[in-house]
Amino acid sequence: MNLSYWEIKNWLSNIDFTIVGSGIVGLNCALQLHRRFPKSKIVILEKGILPQGASTKNAGFACFGSLSEIMDDLKHHSEPEVLDLVKQRLAGLKLLRETLGDDAIDYQNLGGYELFLDSDEHLYQLCIEKQKEINTLLHAIFNSDVFSFKRNNFGFKNIKSTYGFNPFESQIDTGKMMDALLHKVQSLGIKILNNCAVASFSEDSDAVKLKTNHFSLSTKKLFIATNGFAKQLNIPKVRPARAQVLITKPVADLHIKGTFHLDEGYYYFRNIDNRILLGGGRNLDFKTEETTEFGQTEIIQQKLEDLLKTTILPNTNFEIEHSWSGIMGVGQQKQPIVKQLSNNVFCGVRLGGMGVAIGSTIGKQLADLIE
Ligand SMILES: Cc1cc2nc3c(=O)[nH]c(=O)nc-3n(C[C@H](O)[C@H](O)[C@H](O)COP(=O)(O)OP(=O)(O)OC[C@H]3O[C@@H](n4cnc5c(N)ncnc54)[C@H](O)[C@@H]3O)c2cc1C
Repeated sequence: MNLSYWEIKNWLSNIDFTIVGSGIVGLNCALQLHRRFPKSKIVILEKGILPQGASTKNAGFACFGSLSEIMDDLKHHSEPEVLDLVKQRLAGLKLLRETLGDDAIDYQNLGGYELFLDSDEHLYQLCIEKQKEINTLLHAIFNSDVFSFKRNNFGFKNIKSTYGFNPFESQIDTGKMMDALLHKVQSLGIKILNNCAVASFSEDSDAVKLKTNHFSLSTKKLFIATNGFAKQLNIPKVRPARAQVLITKPVADLHIKGTFHLDEGYYYFRNIDNRILLGGGRNLDFKTEETTEFGQTEIIQQKLEDLLKTTILPNTNFEIEHSWSGIMGVGQQKQPIVKQLSNNVFCGVRLGGMGVAIGSTIGKQLADLIE
């Protein structure tokens, strides 16, 4: 790119902090750096025209885990670790709401539900059995029972007659949230350069040199917030995980309100603008979905459509308006990776399916890694 003197001087010189990725983590990292170092020059490099990972693609569940998810977490993590994860998700949601305000993100506390398929007798019974134990575990945080079972009042089919209910779960409008966050960051004078993909970086004692698809630049500190794409910048222990979603056209008199998990959270749906947004199905083809390529597959889209017809909207005429996908970053452990990689390079990645909840605090923690 043949840059002018002015472009080089204003945009690409004397940069204190460069952040790669303008998702929820990168933007929150920028906000915290600006809070701590108001005079610093901060630049965010984003490969997409809009943020192109998970933050503008997700389902907008402001959640901290269904009954079966917490039971599953307890198989792989200790009790204190599971409690810590719930606390992190609550703290992240609190920070998100404080940063942007409930109106700006359309925060609505409509409750969360967990549905059990008729064929899921074992999991259903196990959840009923463990409900009390998990409630006791969570008492330390919520001071009241979190999970109860309610009768199926939404007219869902092919599921057990009761579903798990969690009154503390909420939903946001993902688009509004990201729009508000981008606006806030830019209003502070932080520069976001879109369509700018970082290909590599190298470090000397007091600076990091970056190569992008358009130009090279030098920065004092580098923060990598590329989540599912982390491997491309040589950050290990993060695998990409594509998640596919569809949305219906508006449905007349839609009575379904809330956030819903089905089949151990492999499927999730919610109401938005009188529509149903439904996602999931990675478990049908984990191998194909371990990719950084966006796209939809017949097998998953067909399953999502079937679920709408047979289970979620069995007696309602509906049309599917649109489908899309997003890329998450996952790993063996659910804990995100927030750490210093070398003298001047830091990363905050691997947010799994929890980034709406924990993204704000992970961004803040990433910025707080420097002294
Ligand atoms: C379909 C779907 C549904 C989800 N639902 C929920 C939910 O309901 N609740 C919840 O809590 N979480 C949910 N999540 C997870 C949540 O969206 C993510 O955890 C969160 O958005 C991660 O934010 P991030 O900033 O770490 O990553 P991202 O939003 O992925 O941001 C990373 C950014 O880095 C950019 N980038 C990557 N490589 C480069 C490069 N080399 N150079 C420049 N830029 C680069 C990407 O374009 C991207 O914009 C969902 C995710 C998906 C995909």
